Amino acid sequence: MTTTAVPVPTGTASGIMLIIHAGAGDQGKRRTPRENAKVDHDLRQALEAGYALLEAGAPAQDAVCAALRVLEDAEEFNAGRGAALTSQGKVSMDACLMTGKDKEAGSAIGVEQARHPIDVARAIKERTKHAVFAKPSSDLLRDWGIETCDPEYFITDLRRQQLIEAQSGGDLWSRHGTTGAVARDRAGNLAAGTSTGGITNQMPGRVGDSPLVGCGTYAGNDSASISCTGIGEAFIKETAAYQIAARIRFAGQSPEQAAQAVLDGVTSHGGDGGVIVLPSHGPGLIAYNSPGMNYGYMSESGSEVNHSGE
Ligand code: ASP
Repeated sequence: MTTTAVPVPTGTASGIMLIIHAGAGDQGKRRTPRENAKVDHDLRQALEAGYALLEAGAPAQDAVCAALRVLEDAEEFNAGRGAALTSQGKVSMDACLMTGKDKEAGSAIGVEQARHPIDVARAIKERTKHAVFAKPSSDLLRDWGIETCDPEYFITDLRRQQLIEAQSGGDLWSRHGTTGAVARDRAGNLAAGTSTGGITNQMPGRVGDSPLVGCGTYAGNDSASISCTGIGEAFIKETAAYQIAARIRFAGQSPEQAAQAVLDGVTSHGGDGGVIVLPSHGPGLIAYNSPGMNYGYMSESGSEVNHSGE
């Protein structure tokens, strides 16, 4: 499979930068111009929300969370409202946040009520001594000050329709716009976050790569911050995010070489998808071997959004 690599220019070598994605696939080619305009608008809003914080000197993880909160509210993306539905017609959302300086991480799996699952991941990282929670209880969410919503809030007509289509056509791998962000702040620190509803028609209890540290999400100041999207099973078997970081750190590979090798590995497991990679110095990277990818970036050198993915 051919890999498309989009370098993200940096201003100074360690200048602030925010890169986001909202899923891999080819949905952009099937959407109406109006729908694509909404995708572009929401990608831009997410970039602006996160980048304003970086400009003001906030830590990278604040920018990652701010961008993801916007994408979680945008119902065309598969996170928060508009999350994909399981085979039982419910949402089961996953999110992960990791910071590169201390390599601390929080991962939330099977979230059903939090408006912003990335906030749950952050609370786990900052308010507990644990790294991963499955189905955090409503009492815990309340203690952590997390905003909750009725389960119906998350379910859209489009996702209902896609579930019907997946169940009648047997499309096991239907993917719809998982969201992710990586950022570099003024202090040169990195952070990465990913938030998803998983895969339409997934079996109840199935977990993809997004919330798994080192698979769908990773950040280390000694290498890079990474968020992945695509067929989660293949990214898990490749330990994709950490493998990219390790190739950069230990093998001295460029982000592009590392991403290419890992996406080839993903292909060998029958998957495809994309990654966003932001090293501690130098340009960032968007790379995908799926038919398209929704992404955007903002740095001291400029900004761009692209809506070709699901
Ligand atoms: N990687 C996600 C998962 O497997 C899906 C996606 O990226 O769209 O749950």
